[in-house]
Amino acid sequence: MLQEVTLGLEPDERSCFFEDGGHRLVSGLIYEASTRGDHDCAAYYFVWKSLAPPRVKFFGWLLTKNRIHCCQALARKNILEDAACEICKAAEESADHIFSKCPFVQGYWTTIGWLPDNIAKVQELWNTQPHSPRIAKKVLHPLLLLLCWEIWKHMNDVVFRGMPPDVARLTSACKESIKNWSCRILRKEEAMSNSWMLAFSM
Ligand SMILES: [Zn+2]
Repeated sequence: MLQEVTLGLEPDERSCFFEDGGHRLVSGLIYEASTRGDHDCAAYYFVWKSLAPPRVKFFGWLLTKNRIHCCQALARKNILEDAACEICKAAEESADHIFSKCPFVQGYWTTIGWLPDNIAKVQELWNTQPHSPRIAKKVLHPLLLLLCWEIWKHMNDVVFRGMPPDVARLTSACKESIKNWSCRILRKEEAMSNSWMLAFSM
């Protein structure tokens, strides 16, 4: 490609799909392209089409790409020497360890009535079917993002604020978020609104 390029003295000509007439980058165009919907990607629908708030969608995207900053990832980047889980100290803290394998989180899933063994790996989290009767995907998927987000925040409280891991505190944080997120459900989706609150009734 470069062989056909001849450098001249004229100013450079730059072009980009996402610029305005003055060659300024327009982030709105990037957002539009990324959410247009003609994607054949399960993670895309799971994360970006959910009713989660933007920061949780962003977290969910990193999570499903296995790119969150767990100890294992930080050790790989030489930021940490020891990748052991801060809670159980029994295994490396990978993303899957945090969300499905750590004894603490397994205790949490059991407490809320979900089968820990049925929590799918983070890279296919949408395949989780926590118990029977089955929860509709439309409700389950945002709920999964919400619970994982709360688990992640709980872990950060333990690691960075020195708070003790506590299933009861985590559960009440989840309940609070579920109540807050319910206002994100469109008014016309009354059925979804009802099952949203019921899905976590313990
Ligand atoms: Zn652990």
